[in-house]
Amino acid sequence: AAKADGGRYRTYADDLDDAAGEEARLGADLRTALDRGQFHLVYQPIVELPDGRVNAVESLIRWTHPERGNVAPNDFIPVAERNGLIVELGEWILRTACLQYADWWHAGVAPERIGVNVSARQLAEPAFTDIVAAILAETGVHPTRLVIEVTETAVFGGGAAVRAVRELSDLGISIALDDFGTGHSSLGLLQTLPVRILKVDKSFVENVTMAGRHAVIATSLIQVANGLGLVAVAEGVETAEQAAELYRLGYRRAQGYHFGRPAPAAAMDGNASARRSR
Ligand code: C2E
Ligand code: CA
Ligand code: CA
Ligand code: CA
Repeated sequence: AAKADGGRYRTYADDLDDAAGEEARLGADLRTALDRGQFHLVYQPIVELPDGRVNAVESLIRWTHPERGNVAPNDFIPVAERNGLIVELGEWILRTACLQYADWWHAGVAPERIGVNVSARQLAEPAFTDIVAAILAETGVHPTRLVIEVTETAVFGGGAAVRAVRELSDLGISIALDDFGTGHSSLGLLQTLPVRILKVDKSFVENVTMAGRHAVIATSLIQVANGLGLVAVAEGVETAEQAAELYRLGYRRAQGYHFGRPAPAAAMDGNASARRSR
C-alpha cells in the first residue's frame, strides 16, 4: 500500500520489512513477557444442555503487553509457534491450568474437567507426553480430569503428533478435536485417532437457527458424534435461540458467551453450579 510517510511513499518492500520487524519485536516481547509474568489464563465454562450446569472449563491465555495493552492469542500464538517459544510457553500454560484445577479441587468447586489448548509444535515435541505426565504428577491432577484440545491441522500430518495423541490417550487424558469441521480431513481423523470430544466450530453454530448449509452441517456433525460415541461440544453459542436449536438437534454440551465469557479463576470459586460431590 503506497502511503505518504514523511514526504516519502511507502513501498511494498517497506511493508515486508515492517512485517518482519514486527514479527521479530513481538517474538522478543513474548520472551520478556514469559520472564516477567505478563501472561495469565482465563477460563470459560462448557455447560450441559439444556440446564446450563457447568461441566468443564477451557483455559485460554491472555497477554497484557506493557505498551500495547491486551494482545489477542490469535495474534501472538502463531508468532510463538514460529519462533519456538510455544514449547516453553505451552508448558507454563499446562502447569498454570493444572495448578488452578488442583486449587479448585481442594476448594470443592472443581468442574469435571479442564481443557487446555495445545499447538501443533508442542504436540510434535518428542518429550511432550513426558512433560504432561510430569505436570500432572507434580500438581496432583488425575489424568482423566485433563482434556487436551488439538486442532485437526496439528494432527493432520501424522507422525509425532499422532503418536503423542495416542500416548496421551493411553494415560487417560481426553483428546478434543478443536474447530471441528474446518480442517482438511475431519472425518478421516476419527477413524484412526483416539478422540473423545468434538468441538464443533462456531461457524456452524452461528447460523444454526436459520435453514441453510450451516444448520445441515451442525445436524450431520452431531449424528457423527453420537454414532461414534463421542461428545460434541457446540462452540460460540451466543443466544438462547441457538442453544435451544442445538439441544433440539441433539447437542448436550455447549460453550459460548451466552453461557459465560472467559473469566479469571476467581469467578469460578463462587460458581455453585460447578460444585460437585465426590
Ligand atoms: P479456540 O481454542 O477455538 O478458543 C475459542 C475462542 O472463541 C476463544 O478466543 C474464546 O474467547 C472465543 N469465544 C468463546 N465463546 C465465544 C462466543 O460465544 N462468540 C465468539 N465470537 N467467540 C467466542 P480467544 O481466547 O481469543 O482464543 C483464540 C484462539 O487462540 C483459540 O481458539 C486458540 O486457538 C488460541 N489459544 C487461546 N489460548 C491458547 C492457549 O493457551 N494455548 C494455545 N496453544 N492456543 C491458545
Ligand atoms: Ca480450544
Ligand atoms: Ca475452537
Ligand atoms: Ca479456534
